[in-house]
Amino acid sequence: SGEVSETVSTGSSAPQPHPLAAKKPSIKRTPNDFIFGKTIGEGSYSTVYIAKEVSTSNEFAIKVCDKKFIMKERKSEYIMREKTVLTKTNHPFIVRLYYTFQDSDRLYFVLEYARKGELLYYLTKLSSFDMNCSRFYAAEMVEALDYLQQQGVIHRDLKPENILLNDRMHIMITDFGSAKILKMDGTDKEDANAKPSSAQGHRRNSFVGTAQYVSPEVLNSKKAYYSSDLWALGCIIFQFLSGETPFRGGHEYQIFQKVCRLDYEIPEGFNSTAADLVQKLLVLDPTQRLGCKEMGGMNTLRQHTFFEGIVWEGLEKQNPPELV
Ligand code: ATP
Repeated sequence: SGEVSETVSTGSSAPQPHPLAAKKPSIKRTPNDFIFGKTIGEGSYSTVYIAKEVSTSNEFAIKVCDKKFIMKERKSEYIMREKTVLTKTNHPFIVRLYYTFQDSDRLYFVLEYARKGELLYYLTKLSSFDMNCSRFYAAEMVEALDYLQQQGVIHRDLKPENILLNDRMHIMITDFGSAKILKMDGTDKEDANAKPSSAQGHRRNSFVGTAQYVSPEVLNSKKAYYSSDLWALGCIIFQFLSGETPFRGGHEYQIFQKVCRLDYEIPEGFNSTAADLVQKLLVLDPTQRLGCKEMGGMNTLRQHTFFEGIVWEGLEKQNPPELV
């Protein structure tokens, strides 16, 4: 029917229950089960509130979307995609969706609350991160990307404002509205029935993601690979250490041209190990990026010298280096 349906998510893939997970997942929540507090953010089609569950006093972030507005702005697909991904993921570095429900006018998404906000806030405040912080946060992103790949998900809009932080300063990746969900055989669900010719014409002049982090294959062929997220990771590591994204320009078009020509420069004084990693991620051919299947998979990426010193097991239980 095109309507956003209701489900209760307790996470499907990993068996261990989350400490905040509902004891009786079959009980449908309603807005009355929560005390809504202040607004913590406004998206283009949603408002996010902090809210307390009456029965448990647990705090959540509740994303509220106006149904009429979503229909008018044709955002249903975006919202459905976000819900599909968050319903099937259960990982410490991916924002968790606890419940969804609706009333006559609105959709409600009860999310894990990112108490420390966006990583972008810290990057802007500090201008850049030192090697230690860059390494740690990049490592958490590698873990998240590896998991997403196992779930058949390409994020397609990875950037510091979509990396939220929990109270212990660990990452929570969010904003899966642009994600691509692949079937388990690795083929593209959405493209499966599309005629090649119509698909081409249909998609011209549109791209998914954000100009500064978009990969050349998404620009050129509109086809995303798992390693399109590795390209974004390369841009983000560059940005962590230098304070700027590698591909810059006054207009999106200029940025796109630079991306397609691999026109960027490693700044003076940039750590040489990090430079080596960035150069191995920012590779035009999506099948030649460090960490992609053809290059030996994510473990090959973990083994790069940049990550030396990282204890990959249980990153979420470690104390992140202080962002100062
Ligand atoms: P758009 O999708 O229109 O680009 P957006 O992704 O910023 O916007 P939302 O996901 O609706 O929109 O988020 C709106 C704001 O709320 C953002 O600033 C975001 O940082 C904040 N926010 C979203 N989810 C959470 C959360 N789980 N915890 C804390 N803050 C959140």
